[in-house]
Amino acid sequence: MKNYYQPEIETMPQDQILALQDERLVKQVRYVYDHVRFYRDRMDEAGVAPEDIRGTQDLHKLPFITKDDLRDQYPYGLLAVPLEECVRIQSTSGTTGRRVVAFYTREDLDIWEECCARAIVAAGGTKEDVCHVCYGYGLFTGGPGLNGGSHKVGCLTLPMSSGNTERQLQFMTDLGSTILCCTPSYAANLGEAVAERGMKDQLKLKAGIFGAEPWTEQMRQSIEETLGIKAYDIYGLTEISGPGVSFECEEQAGMHIQEDHFIPEIIDPKTGEVLPEGQVGELVFTCITKKAFPLLRYRTRDLCLLTRKKCSCGRTHVRMLKPKGRSDDMMIVKGVNVWPSQIEAVLLNQGYQANYQIIVDRIGNRDSIEVQVEMTPEMAQDETIPVAKREKKIVSGLKSMLGITVDVSVVEPKSIPRSEGKAVRVIDKRHLY
Ligand code: ADP
Ligand code: ZN
Repeated sequence: MKNYYQPEIETMPQDQILALQDERLVKQVRYVYDHVRFYRDRMDEAGVAPEDIRGTQDLHKLPFITKDDLRDQYPYGLLAVPLEECVRIQSTSGTTGRRVVAFYTREDLDIWEECCARAIVAAGGTKEDVCHVCYGYGLFTGGPGLNGGSHKVGCLTLPMSSGNTERQLQFMTDLGSTILCCTPSYAANLGEAVAERGMKDQLKLKAGIFGAEPWTEQMRQSIEETLGIKAYDIYGLTEISGPGVSFECEEQAGMHIQEDHFIPEIIDPKTGEVLPEGQVGELVFTCITKKAFPLLRYRTRDLCLLTRKKCSCGRTHVRMLKPKGRSDDMMIVKGVNVWPSQIEAVLLNQGYQANYQIIVDRIGNRDSIEVQVEMTPEMAQDETIPVAKREKKIVSGLKSMLGITVDVSVVEPKSIPRSEGKAVRVIDKRHLY
């Protein structure tokens, strides 16, 4: 069996990676121009011919493509191969609007699964491991992606899908799962369930591969503690292939982007200008090996920064730091820009866990915003601090962070619904979008 840690690619000197990207990009732009009418029209409109793209230095000349373009072209408008060459579709979770479908040839699937296999190996996976996949299966890319990667590594794969915590724990202990793959919010749920049952000793887990939504370092620490594992971040999006576009190594300091398949750029979300390394902006990807659904300069709306600093694991691929949220996560409440991540930061700072919900509503012309947050079990037992006092402290923290008054309810542990996939943090009842 092939070893999916591929040092010849993953530790290739950076100038060689960039040369490989140049070569692949030139071919891919020509391929896309010749096979997708949408791109041909866009490039013609922008006055860019395929021969103007001679390498990554010319990438900025290509027009961007956005999620709205994908929605407009739904379902077949961006397909670059005849439909009979496709063997699979997957679809986005629809977190921010209408779903998008992506198509895969057999070779595309192979590349995607290979990226997931690399992620599993980076988390210490080998064919000796029992890989417990409780990302959702189906249209969502989480389950199928990690499942395919796990097969490639040769792990015994448990295709659990999400939900049914009792069954998850039973299989985990009966079959000795060693690697857990799911969303960080579900990992936190499992962690809570393990603590409640006092069954940490019965687990054989050593690592977790958690992604598909933003999570914080505090969450990482608490998951690592409750499950007794090392927790690795993994990132991806359906449009670009799925999980495995980038993943963490043992250093846990940013995710290596699989640069032999994807070229990342960071742009200013307002002007579209490419930003220098180290600046936070919107992440843009160009796929250089995909055949069925090959996006060029796709705006992810995820905000993060890239670093080419040397990594102690030996991998040379550029790293992206944890996305800080999406540029379109922003809500305008009472005329002020509010990001859920700002609210989360205030709560975590005051010792709460990420079990909270933000409810926004509008009565007449007035916006209201309420944050409900659970007490930790320790807080619930501590009667010296009344709930009203806790609420007041959060209101004041949020006021200085956001500049507006937010209604706060501190609620009992476990009273906010838990998610089995991506967490639902914001309930916007205003139907503005
Ligand atoms: P949707 O856009 O409908 O949620 P996907 O299911 O394809 O569609 O999700 C992709 C998005 O999930 C990414 O663009 C990003 O916002 C988020 N995401 C995925 N992995 C991570 C991660 N490790 N950290 C933060 N956000 C992530
Ligand atoms: Zn590394």
